[in-house]
Amino acid sequence: MKLSPSIPADAAQIQAALTDPKRLAAVRDTGLLDTPPEDVFDRLTRLAAKLTGAPVTFVSLLDADRDFYKSAYGLGESLGTTRQLSGRTFCHYPLVSGEALILEDVTQLPVFRDVPTVNSLGIRAYAGIPLRTDDGEVLGSFCAVDFKPKQWSELDMEIIVELAQSAMREIRLRKALKDADALNQQLQAQIQKVDELNRALSEMATTDPLTGVANRRAFDHSLQLELAIVERRSTPLSLLMLDVDHFKRINDTFGHETGDKVLVAIAQMLSGCARVIDVVARVGGEEFAMILPNTDAEGAQEVAERMRIAVAQSNWLGQPTTVSIGAATLQDKEDAASLHARADAALYAAKTSGRDRVVMA
Ligand code: GH3
Ligand code: MG
Ligand code: MG
Repeated sequence: MKLSPSIPADAAQIQAALTDPKRLAAVRDTGLLDTPPEDVFDRLTRLAAKLTGAPVTFVSLLDADRDFYKSAYGLGESLGTTRQLSGRTFCHYPLVSGEALILEDVTQLPVFRDVPTVNSLGIRAYAGIPLRTDDGEVLGSFCAVDFKPKQWSELDMEIIVELAQSAMREIRLRKALKDADALNQQLQAQIQKVDELNRALSEMATTDPLTGVANRRAFDHSLQLELAIVERRSTPLSLLMLDVDHFKRINDTFGHETGDKVLVAIAQMLSGCARVIDVVARVGGEEFAMILPNTDAEGAQEVAERMRIAVAQSNWLGQPTTVSIGAATLQDKEDAASLHARADAALYAAKTSGRDRVVMA
């Protein structure tokens, strides 16, 4: 093989090529710098050594101020644990020329004689192929060296070129996997965000913003659901409708904001009296409803009384606040509208008969 290159690169050209930002970005983007040795790359360098007879072969990646050896067959110990070299190396020449560098005896050309690895590692022969991305950026090289002069045959060079291509394929594959992984992570993050948004949205759709209990829509939905369950299990079900007494007066006397606070306090009190399976909802301005699954008329009256008394005994405004409650227990074959209407009628009766009381439908 003929020696190359005829006019080797000078220090300024090497420095410019090494520090070229686009090239550096491509090198760092491989994700291979400072990663441990891997079998896929070591197999290629081992094969190159076996087939060419060179004692040392490596895959080098050229960072701005160091060569990092992703694989270094026969040179592991000399490179130490960091597997990198700084200062001028033979791998810088294929970087600048973009071509193979084939040296049978490095001491024949003065410019190569003082490459530090000639002395430090005793390199006498070198054959290196640039590792080039599809965009034309040279990442480093695939090379073979000998400690004595070596005549690189055509076949040696074919082998090195072939294995360099395999190394490049592997590097490309890693990059593709890394990109896919990053994309996947982005996707996961987006999915999570959408999930959170959906959760917030569905909560907004079912929750009363002032009091935090279920809203009218959720109440209607729950009542339908509970009726369907009752139909299958034939367990009792009761509904309470609750309206704050003279709430207009509360607003007029203490202001709308205080009125709001009373509504929040009542909602909390109702939730406190409820079991986990009960549904407490705000179904109108100062009207609440409670669905009491598995509760007969007697149980419903008890719960309603407990609530009425709890509110009456509270003293939020320095004067009693009272509520009227209508209660209805589901009859055979009755639908939601009828149950609701009977509970409302009972509430109306509670209002007209004096307020602060529970009336059973
Ligand atoms: P009754 O004992 O007959 O129920 O008397 P009431 O004054 O409570 O009856 P009415 O239904 O006529 O008045 C309810 C009042 O509740 C009217 C309205 O201004 C007030 N209100 C409705 N929604 C809200 C709210 O979100 N916050 C406040 N502070 N007041 C509300
Ligand atoms: Mg009302
Ligand atoms: Mg009222």
